[in-house]
Amino acid sequence: MMKDELLNALECAKAQIRASRSSAELKEVRVKFLGKKGVITQALRSLGQVPPDERPAMGRLANDIRESIESLVESRENEIKKAETEARLKREAVDITLPGAVPEVGRKHLITRTFEEIERVFSNMGYQLAEGPEIETDWYNFVALNMPKDHPARDMQASFYVTEDILLRTHTSPVQIRTMQRMAPNLPIRIIAPGRVYRRDDDATHSPMFHQVEGLVVDRGITFGDLKGALLAFAREFFGEETEIRLRPSYFPFTEPSAEVDISCTMCRGCGCRVCKGTGWLEILGSGMVHPEVLRHGGYDPEEVSGFAFGMGVERIAMLKYGVDDLRLFFQNDKRFLEQF
Ligand SMILES: [Zn+2]
Repeated sequence: MMKDELLNALECAKAQIRASRSSAELKEVRVKFLGKKGVITQALRSLGQVPPDERPAMGRLANDIRESIESLVESRENEIKKAETEARLKREAVDITLPGAVPEVGRKHLITRTFEEIERVFSNMGYQLAEGPEIETDWYNFVALNMPKDHPARDMQASFYVTEDILLRTHTSPVQIRTMQRMAPNLPIRIIAPGRVYRRDDDATHSPMFHQVEGLVVDRGITFGDLKGALLAFAREFFGEETEIRLRPSYFPFTEPSAEVDISCTMCRGCGCRVCKGTGWLEILGSGMVHPEVLRHGGYDPEEVSGFAFGMGVERIAMLKYGVDDLRLFFQNDKRFLEQF
């Protein structure tokens, strides 16, 4: 009777082991037959009720069946694990023919690049870099540059004042005075001074903060011809070999004589177009021979030395070189704009 039960249990176990689809299901089957309260375990425990002469045979049978079930469970366990591994690999499969994920790489802002290009051109011409504070005294920003308190040119540069005598510099020109004071009486001075400047303007062509590069050369016997030669060399190196320049008489308090400098239009090569408004010329900077008063404030004798100076707006230069039509684009930090350069 017990023999039939055991053989029947083995058949049931075989069927349920085959039907198991996961390690968890398989474990349940194993517990059901071989656990403490399992069918086989119970049978082995109740051997005492079997007639003594049948006991050894029955005991052997129960043990054989237990071992059979153990080994069936083990081999099914291996099959399930293999299938699970294959399924996982299939799920996480890597398609090596897909293009790789390219990490986004940052780049220098167009203004920074333009600064670096200007600096490169002038440093190749023997100019050194100079710097000055962005918060400046009225004396360095105006008075020393030949703009005393009542000077009408001050109105052209509505300024951000910190106190009555301290303001955010409206141009990089104070660096001319600071450099001369530092250098005097040594010669020559040949510097460019890049930096931020501040004025109370805000529209498509003006920003309350913008960038300038100042240039200053002081030595014995510097002439207007030296000024023109230096700016022509810069224009050709920066905008292209075929670039021409044109100087127009102008007025600045800190230079005399003064000139606005135009380059031949980078778009139409001087034929006339929308960018140059049909004139063939584009204004790029202001310049002139350093005013005697300015030399004196810097600690030099205008009877002995002379010099020239120039100042350019970096945004304007960048707009002309790279065809940008709204100055505000430089400061909105829209990646769609920045990524184009
Ligand atoms: Zn043009």
